[in-house]
Amino acid sequence: FTVLAVESSADDTCAAIVTSSRQILSNVVIKQHDLHEGFGGIHPMIAIEAHQRNMPIAVKRALGEAKLDVSKDIDGIAFTRGPGIGGCLSVGSNAAKTLAAALNLPIVGVHHMQAHALTPLLTSWPNPPKFPFLTLLISGGHTLLLLATSLTSFRILATTPDESIGRTFDKVSRMLELKWSNLGPGAALEQFCAQTWESDLPKIPALPWPMRGKLGFSYASFHSYVERYISSRGGIQELDMATKLALARTFQTAAVAHLEEKLVLAYEWCVTQNIEVCDVVVSGGVASNQFLRGRLQECLIKLNPVNPISLCFPPPHLCTDNAVMIAWASMHRFLARDYDDYTVNLRSKWNIDELSPN
Ligand code: ATP
Ligand code: FE
Repeated sequence: FTVLAVESSADDTCAAIVTSSRQILSNVVIKQHDLHEGFGGIHPMIAIEAHQRNMPIAVKRALGEAKLDVSKDIDGIAFTRGPGIGGCLSVGSNAAKTLAAALNLPIVGVHHMQAHALTPLLTSWPNPPKFPFLTLLISGGHTLLLLATSLTSFRILATTPDESIGRTFDKVSRMLELKWSNLGPGAALEQFCAQTWESDLPKIPALPWPMRGKLGFSYASFHSYVERYISSRGGIQELDMATKLALARTFQTAAVAHLEEKLVLAYEWCVTQNIEVCDVVVSGGVASNQFLRGRLQECLIKLNPVNPISLCFPPPHLCTDNAVMIAWASMHRFLARDYDDYTVNLRSKWNIDELSPN
C-alpha cells in the first residue's frame, strides 16, 4: 500500500510517499524559518500564504523524487487533521481531499502528535519500541510525557500549563540574538552551545527548578530567568561572548535536566503500577538536539545500570515536522480500510488522549 501524505500544521510545508513495507520513497520539507525571523513566533497569515505557495511544489516534488504516477501508483492520501494552526491545517487538508476526490482514493486524517510518537515504529525497524512504552514529545507546541499502550492509546502523564520546551528554546535563542540562518532558532542555540571554547567561562547562577518532584512541566520561568539575567546586565549588547555562551549552556542544561527529572518520575510511577516499560521514545523537533540525546541516555543508564531501558530517537530530520510520519501513522488505518469521509472536519485543538480507537 502506497500513501502520499501532506503536512502543514505549523510553519513547514511537507509532502512524502511511504509504503506499507516501510520504504520512504520521498520526503520533501519546505521550511519557512526566514519568513518568521522578524516576528515573536510563527505569524499565521504569513505561514498560510507560504503553505499555499509551497504545497503544490512539495506534492509535485514528492511524486517526482519517488518517480511515481499519482493516477496509477498511489493507493491513499493522508493529511494532518490536527492539532495545529487552523488556517495552516486547512491548506494540507484541502489539497489532500481534492486530490483524493479527483483520483477516487481513500483519505485518512492524522493526529500530528500521534505521528511524532509513532515515527520510531518506522525508523527503528527491525527493533521497534514495544508497547507499553514511555514517550517524550518535545516540540514547538507541546511538552508531553505519555504512556503509549497501543497505536491509538496514549495516557498523558505530564504536560505543561504554560510554554512548550521548543518555544522556550526559540525565545532564548532570540534573546541571545543568535543567527538562525536555515537552522531555525532551537537548532541555532544548540549549535552555539556546542562550539569549542578553550578558556574558563563565567559562572551563571542556577536556573529555577519548577514543579520539583511533580509530574508536570513548566518552562515559562526558564525564559524569564534568561530575560531577567540579560536585563540585569544592561542588555544583550553588554554581554561578552563568554558570558553569552555560559548563559546559553546553563539554560540548555537546565532545560534538559527538567526533562530528565520527569522521565525518572514517570518511570518510577510505572513501576508502582506494575507496568513494565522497556523502551522510551523521544520525538518532536527538540529531540533532534544531540546534547539532549546524550544526557537522556546517561539518565536512563543511571536509572537501571544492569538492564538499561532502551532509548529510541527518530533520525533528527524525522524529529522535526515532516510528512513521512503522517504517512506512517495513517498506514494501519488504510490497511484496516478504516478511512475518513471526505467531509471530515479539522481539529485544531485535539488532545492525544482523545483519539478514537480505530
Ligand atoms: P508541534 O509538533 O508541537 O505541533 P511544531 O510542529 O511546530 O510543534 P516541531 O517541528 O515538531 O514543532 O519542532 C519545532 C521545535 O523544535 C521548534 O521550537 C524548534 O526550535 C525546536 N528545535 C528544532 N531543532 C532543535 C534543536 N536542535 N535543539 C533544540 N530545539 C530544536
Ligand atoms: Fe511537530
